[in-house]
Amino acid sequence: MTGARNHPPTGSMQAADAAHHLHPFTHHRELAGKGVRVITRAEGAWIFDSEGNRILDAMAGLWCVNIGYGRHELADAAARQMRELPYYNTFFQSAHPPVIALAEKLAQRAPDGLDHVFFATGGSDANDTNIRLVRHYWARKGEPQRRIIISRHNAYHGSTMGAASLGGMAPMHGQGGLPIADIVHIMQPHWWAEAEEGEGREEFGLRAARALEAEIERLGPENVAAFIGEPVQGAGAVIVPPESYWPEIQRICRRYGILLIADEVITGFGRTGRWWGSESFGIAPDIMTIAKGLSSGYAPIGGSIVSREIAETIADEEFFHGYTYSGHPVSAAVALENLRILEEEGIIDRVREETGPYLAERWRELMDHPLVGEVRIRGFMAAVQLTPDKARRASFAAPTGTVGLIGREKAIANGIVMRHIGDSLVISPPLILSREEIDLMIALARRTLDDTLAEVRAQGLMEAG
Ligand SMILES: *Cc1c(COP(=O)(O)O)cnc(C)c1O
Repeated sequence: MTGARNHPPTGSMQAADAAHHLHPFTHHRELAGKGVRVITRAEGAWIFDSEGNRILDAMAGLWCVNIGYGRHELADAAARQMRELPYYNTFFQSAHPPVIALAEKLAQRAPDGLDHVFFATGGSDANDTNIRLVRHYWARKGEPQRRIIISRHNAYHGSTMGAASLGGMAPMHGQGGLPIADIVHIMQPHWWAEAEEGEGREEFGLRAARALEAEIERLGPENVAAFIGEPVQGAGAVIVPPESYWPEIQRICRRYGILLIADEVITGFGRTGRWWGSESFGIAPDIMTIAKGLSSGYAPIGGSIVSREIAETIADEEFFHGYTYSGHPVSAAVALENLRILEEEGIIDRVREETGPYLAERWRELMDHPLVGEVRIRGFMAAVQLTPDKARRASFAAPTGTVGLIGREKAIANGIVMRHIGDSLVISPPLILSREEIDLMIALARRTLDDTLAEVRAQGLMEAG
């Protein structure tokens, strides 16, 4: 056993959780029936639950623990900052050393021309900032009618009113009166789900991108403020777009002079083997949304990195927007330490040059499994698409997600956290995985697929719907 701290017995924590805790994206009656899994500690790429099980965290928490768990330098940075200055605001002519250093550091790291940062506490509120910011920007430019933001179906940009409206998740829009006005959605570049019979990937990528042009023409270019997209759709099920997609999107945004927002909340900070997903795909954004890997999840922080031109345009009038915790000093100090570790330990270079290519080679081997129709991977984010019939890209004769959920439960039983999204299983592991850990992860994933196939057959689900 591994130095477990004292905590109440699992059963009593589960009962208290069921009695008092409302979870994100959760069916509570079902959860109460199963009992919550209580995670008590973590080290490297491994988490431990209250029963003492050691589990390989192939999701890096929730796409965020890029440097891995257990880095005491971040704990020390937080403790130091809490003792010195636990909080101060950044309104009213104020700032503090960690937020200034972090803004400067991010400006240095960001693609050319992006050099101002507006801080938030996560990705959702950063995207809410973006909605207000781009509309304010166009008003300042004398084009206040440019209000519409174009996004994609099945995008994920967060869970606040604004961010969930930007997102294209149909179940989310089905609750609470979303989307808000002047946000529209075009098709996603998801070849497996959307391509026509016989349509090649690159051809499909161009068609998906040109949906943007058609939508701009339909709406009237003079009314469109911005396009927002994740370089790789994460929560959509790790949808890696065809190579033809982003250059065409970029061309269209330039042609109509509309702002391009890259939501880098997952793809930033090394996930794709470069600092930014935008670099991996040749995107030149006007705004990047950041969160998650910015602090490797050790403290809540997010933000928007914006172009000099945007910062200049809004400089001469107060922008009536901000959060109590914009640039929180403890989170900023933790983020700075995280960036130092990413840089000094060459973690991102290793993903690009060494462990990323190795993971890709091993992950692609899963394509030979009878359940797997497509593998998708970029850097350290990947998916396997489960199907009863590869050739026809068929879905199962059961509601979408039924087989995916079986897969997730088999994964945890095998000691690995994978997430299911629909009938895909996805991973987004800490960037510090060794080759040996990659081998182990692949072995556990394959065993999970075998167990899932056995269960799917036993339940008579291996039929196309
Ligand atoms: C997680 C996520 C968000 C939302 O971030 P929160 O910190 O949960 O508010 C936004 N965009 C993308 C691409 C994400 O993956």
